[in-house]
Amino acid sequence: MSQENRCLSCSNEFEGKYCNQCGEKVIDQKDRRLVYFLGELVNAITFADSKLWKSLVLIVRKPGFVSYEYVKGVRKPYMRPLSLFFLANLLYFLFPIFNTFNTTLYHQTKSFSFLHSEEASRMVANQVEAMDISYEEFETRYNAKTTELSKMLLIVMVFLVAAMFSIIHIGSAKKLLADHLTIALELMIYILVACMQIFGLLLIGFKIIGLGFTNSETFSSLSVIFLIGFFVYNAERNFYGFEKKRRWFNTIVVLVSFIISMFLYRAFLFFVTFWML
Ligand SMILES: [Zn+2]
Repeated sequence: MSQENRCLSCSNEFEGKYCNQCGEKVIDQKDRRLVYFLGELVNAITFADSKLWKSLVLIVRKPGFVSYEYVKGVRKPYMRPLSLFFLANLLYFLFPIFNTFNTTLYHQTKSFSFLHSEEASRMVANQVEAMDISYEEFETRYNAKTTELSKMLLIVMVFLVAAMFSIIHIGSAKKLLADHLTIALELMIYILVACMQIFGLLLIGFKIIGLGFTNSETFSSLSVIFLIGFFVYNAERNFYGFEKKRRWFNTIVVLVSFIISMFLYRAFLFFVTFWML
């Protein structure tokens, strides 16, 4: 027989080790020992929390599954998608191997791949003259501002991706808006961790052992598009439960919209940063 407890956090009366209203745990004497504290500390420093690794490995290997579980109500074994998203963001901005989201002034103006690059260079040249500062100083200010903004824009991206998912699944999948948001978060975590960090490290590894083709920007862009395609194709089954034909079609639609939105994202990021400087 377990005894009746009064929850210290919400005053609810319950039986067992956890409050059935707010989830507060009844503290054991052993939870107050130094060993327990040190264990928590090691977890916090090394991110050895098994929920984190379990979620990440599944997101990379079985895209859409964690979101499927989360929406169904199997939440305890995984890290919350929103927390994981902010952690992925933090990692991305600490080690920006690819500057896809945090596009520096150099890439905005000197790279030929954007429609707005030429116009951007002209605007920057005029602005540098008008502000009477050196190009280097302008660049430093610009890059600081753009990093700040892209952190906010990444959150906007989650909503855009969710909107895209809900549009292409109208009438065909019994999902609510919050469900589309969950899978959108998973896709953004996947992009930030799998494509930008893991794949980025692999590229650096290849470069070190002398595989020169990895220097090409086209190669890395195509690989990232392929990786995102892998995610969507699998998520269409694991999360939305579709069959082959429909999965191919949806994957292509998502990829095309994604590529277009990346161009728009970079242009938008440039003009907003420029305007706010
Ligand atoms: Zn409680």
